[in-house]
Amino acid sequence: MKIGVLKEITVGEARVAMTPDSALQLQKLGYDCVIETGAGLAAGFSDETYRAAGVEIAPSSDSLWASADVIAKVRPPESTETERLGPEKTLISFFYPAQNAALLEQAKATGANIVAMDMVPRISRAQKMDALSSMANIAGYRAVIEAGNNFGRFFTGQVTAAGKVPPAKVLVIGAGVAGLAAIGTATSLGAITYAFDVRPEVAEQIESMGAEFVFLDFNESQQDGAATGGYAAPSSPEFREKQLAKFRELAPQIDIVITTALIPGRDAPKLWLADMVAAMKPGSVIIDLAAERGGNCDLTVADQKIVSDNGVTVVGYTDFPSRMAAQSSTLYSTNIRHMMTDLTPAKDGKLVHNMEDDVIRGATVAFKGAITYPPPPPKIQ
Ligand code: NAD
Repeated sequence: MKIGVLKEITVGEARVAMTPDSALQLQKLGYDCVIETGAGLAAGFSDETYRAAGVEIAPSSDSLWASADVIAKVRPPESTETERLGPEKTLISFFYPAQNAALLEQAKATGANIVAMDMVPRISRAQKMDALSSMANIAGYRAVIEAGNNFGRFFTGQVTAAGKVPPAKVLVIGAGVAGLAAIGTATSLGAITYAFDVRPEVAEQIESMGAEFVFLDFNESQQDGAATGGYAAPSSPEFREKQLAKFRELAPQIDIVITTALIPGRDAPKLWLADMVAAMKPGSVIIDLAAERGGNCDLTVADQKIVSDNGVTVVGYTDFPSRMAAQSSTLYSTNIRHMMTDLTPAKDGKLVHNMEDDVIRGATVAFKGAITYPPPPPKIQ
């Protein structure tokens, strides 16, 4: 069978779903690989590098659609792409079925099988396919780089002949995958880093990465807002007030705030309010990684950078992984390759869509003309 990779058509999307290295691995699984001309250019991979890795170059998306059995891409398909699917094709991409009900209906009607990389169950066996974590890790790293780019001073403290420079103070709110990556990056640059999360179990991880866990004096427990399964739930009003009071106390001393707080299925909680921005020093920076879901900061504008009246820069970009397209394409295409490995048990270039497999079942949102989202809970953990 043949795996085809399309050039992304979403404006500004620089990632690609296959690199020359991942193509070599896919060929070891028995597949032929084809890529649309120029699809890897924005991520730094030329047609020549693909050709050297044994990949056929399709001169247009038309020729790619005509020849590929499996279509891999990054962004959910646009309707002009979905209408080209058919019962004999499998699509693998981010899909976000909960937010894209109409797209899912359209995809189902084509009879194609759809594997949503954002629906890979978060169980140990599937970590190698966990594209959400791959992208969150990059977003957390890039958030710190973006903060540094907008902050007019060093992260690390220095004693120089021209005077003593204090270290920057960074606060990370939300210590999931992105938050932990941000903590690691900020501490490695020499900042004094603080971090807060409603899930008390992350305190140890935060401290092991060199940051200080911000404890709340709340009935000796930070449990409020922690749900089962490692995710957060909305906090009680009393807990929220304590949390906001703590942030208000910290705001005048903090130079950089990186917010990553999310609650599954809801808008991002507002945690860094306008009065906290007003209390920060001029030149401070806020990077809001929750911007796509409404933002954790009152002043965030999605996809924009603004400067507040008191000189605080607030960045609401929603495309951090695409801003590091070489790295994110490398990790994403590896996640895709691992998914293909599980879909190709005999390594003979023949896709076997085993719906008895928890990981494949969890990620499949449409199968043989039926919608298969939401999946049943996985049998194994
Ligand atoms: P996420 O993106 O859903 O949320 C980011 C963080 O925001 C979470 O840590 C959450 O607790 C925090 N948060 C929510 N409301 C908050 C508030 N009011 N104040 C402060 N923080 C708040 O999280 P994620 O990165 O997807 O990770 C969620 C969980 O999944 C974690 O337990 C993580 O370890 C786990 N995980 C497991 C696997 C695996 O086993 N394969 C892979 C990835 C993540």
